[in-house]
Amino acid sequence: MNPVSDLGALGFVLFWGLTALAAGVFLFRGYQLFRLVSLGRRSEKFGQVIKRALTALGHVIIQKCQFKNITREDRGGVGHLFIVWGFLFFVTYYFFFIVIASGFGIPDVMEHNKIYGYYTWVMDFVAPFIVIGTVWGIIRRYIVKPARLKGQQTAEALIILITVLIHPITHVGKIATQIAAGHPPAGLGILTPPLSTAVSHLYTNAATIAKWHSFWFWSHWVFVLIVLGMIAYTRYLHMIAGALNDLLRRTPPKGTPERIDLNDPSSFGVDRVDNFAWKQLLDSVACVVCGYCQEICPATFTGKKLNPRLVIRDIKTNMLKNGPFITKKQAPVLPLIGENQEGSVPMEAIWACTTCGGCMEVCPVYIEHVWEIIDMRRHLVQMQAKFPDELLNLFENTEQRSNPWGIAPADRAKWASGIETKPFEAGKTEYLFYVGCAGAFDARNRHISLAIARILDAGGISWGILGKDELCCGDSLRRLGNEYVFDRIAKDNIKMFQDRGVKKIITECPHCYHTLKNDYHQYGTDWEVIHHAEFIRGLIKEKRLKLNGNGDLGKVLFHDSCYLGRHNGIYDAPREVLARTTSHTPAEMKRRLNRSFCCGAGGGHMWMEESIGKRINHERVEEALKEDPRTICVCCPYCMTMFEDGIKDLKASEKVQVLDLAEIVARALQ
Ligand code: SF4
Ligand code: SF4
Repeated sequence: MNPVSDLGALGFVLFWGLTALAAGVFLFRGYQLFRLVSLGRRSEKFGQVIKRALTALGHVIIQKCQFKNITREDRGGVGHLFIVWGFLFFVTYYFFFIVIASGFGIPDVMEHNKIYGYYTWVMDFVAPFIVIGTVWGIIRRYIVKPARLKGQQTAEALIILITVLIHPITHVGKIATQIAAGHPPAGLGILTPPLSTAVSHLYTNAATIAKWHSFWFWSHWVFVLIVLGMIAYTRYLHMIAGALNDLLRRTPPKGTPERIDLNDPSSFGVDRVDNFAWKQLLDSVACVVCGYCQEICPATFTGKKLNPRLVIRDIKTNMLKNGPFITKKQAPVLPLIGENQEGSVPMEAIWACTTCGGCMEVCPVYIEHVWEIIDMRRHLVQMQAKFPDELLNLFENTEQRSNPWGIAPADRAKWASGIETKPFEAGKTEYLFYVGCAGAFDARNRHISLAIARILDAGGISWGILGKDELCCGDSLRRLGNEYVFDRIAKDNIKMFQDRGVKKIITECPHCYHTLKNDYHQYGTDWEVIHHAEFIRGLIKEKRLKLNGNGDLGKVLFHDSCYLGRHNGIYDAPREVLARTTSHTPAEMKRRLNRSFCCGAGGGHMWMEESIGKRINHERVEEALKEDPRTICVCCPYCMTMFEDGIKDLKASEKVQVLDLAEIVARALQ
């Protein structure tokens, strides 16, 4: 049976005419979007094409994007799994058994074999899964309504779900009427697909079966074509753009902005969509509006103006609106930054980001929100000098005295005045202990520096410091968009390290760790950078530390620092050290590991006022206090400050102490 050839030449004209129309609509819009995305500047090169393609394909097939977001509280992704896996079978079916078989009038060739018989069985099982997945999606979106989907009960979302639902229904109708008409899928004898066979019993009137078959066939194919036409205009687009975004995503580390050419004034950050890299514009097209990013974002959670989903939406809206003008070399009509309307990213949102990386961690289509935000900060700082007032001191102090407080550089080594330290000298000392500004100047964090020094000595490590010659690493400057000064600091540091023969660096702070390891790598460095949590774990494993347990810490609760965990994947080392040192597995907060909640200090926020909404550190400290700890363990000087301040503000200082991992280990040394 072939409802196409049954209509004679008209059938083929209709089939291919409609197919060409839908493909034309899809390609027209696809080309428009391609042109718009191509307005972006050229970006880093993407190598390893085959590896990338296989990885992206694997991600689509196993649906990694969904598995990473299915939690006990949010199982929305389960329905998506059913739909996608089902559709992978459907798309194959369309190609072989509709386009080739019916479109070329050769169903007898394509359908009279065991493969077709088996495939119709598979489709009979797959079709109900798609129905279940779609109904699941409708319930999740319109009845349960999780917070991340608030306001997303749109007509577009409903139409998409309905079109998904129609596919399996019309398919089963098509096969069922084929069976009822006495043309069951050949090749397996009497073993016909069970669901379609059961449905075929509804068609008892022999005179109308052929008409019904024709109806199901054409309605099925027309809906397939409607979806094809819709893809590039609706959020169906994520099927293609999301996979492309995965294929073309930058290699780790995530969220580290690209270096910019400081000799080219046109690239001092982004204030027009065409200043973004094309990959950033592809990010905006790939968004599927799932809301996972806004749910994890500490700024959104505490009532700031920033919502990472809306940042991406605004970039896309701006591109769609301004793109046609920019293509014709005309001025954009909608500003990218600052206006209070869709398509403009509010200034407050740009400054509210702590660069914690939560949004990028959960985004199913691998969007890099932080890169986009930092690029807009770069423009504001470098081209307009528009930034929160309190940052002026930070910028000046760091530029002139290489530390955020503007303290005399000669005081850098004061933290070590009571202990014996050696200057780092290649050949005489193996490791450089890079203390960092907080570890050198901040009264509380100096204790951590001393604890690390004690551990290094106890482990028999050959180490030295740069003393008063040490410079700021420039982390905050870079995250705040002051690339010009960061670039100078990075080059000064790299030159000094190279001149002194530094090869191995131990850091106290995860921000220094990330900057020296990942940001400086963009300048061609290849030294080994180790955060103290990992280094101590190594010492314990090698039995170089004699630990005698630690009796007075009470319940120890661990907090993941964003720049150690999410940005660099170091989750186990501090936990293992704590377990070995205290003889107990540390207690955990509800939001932990890659779903941890920022302390509120990253992205330069250590130096900024937080006047809108709830304080992020209060939110995190309240969460910690719910676990009733005696000790909160951190691995970052910024986290230390934010937790201690929060605990003081919430009047819990008598109940809870905050210690760095190094302090806990140092206390346990025999
Ligand atoms: S990096 Fe963190 S603070 Fe910034 S937008 Fe993403 S989740 Fe929000
Ligand atoms: S940016 Fe990513 S996580 Fe956020 S709504 Fe879009 S697809 Fe979802």
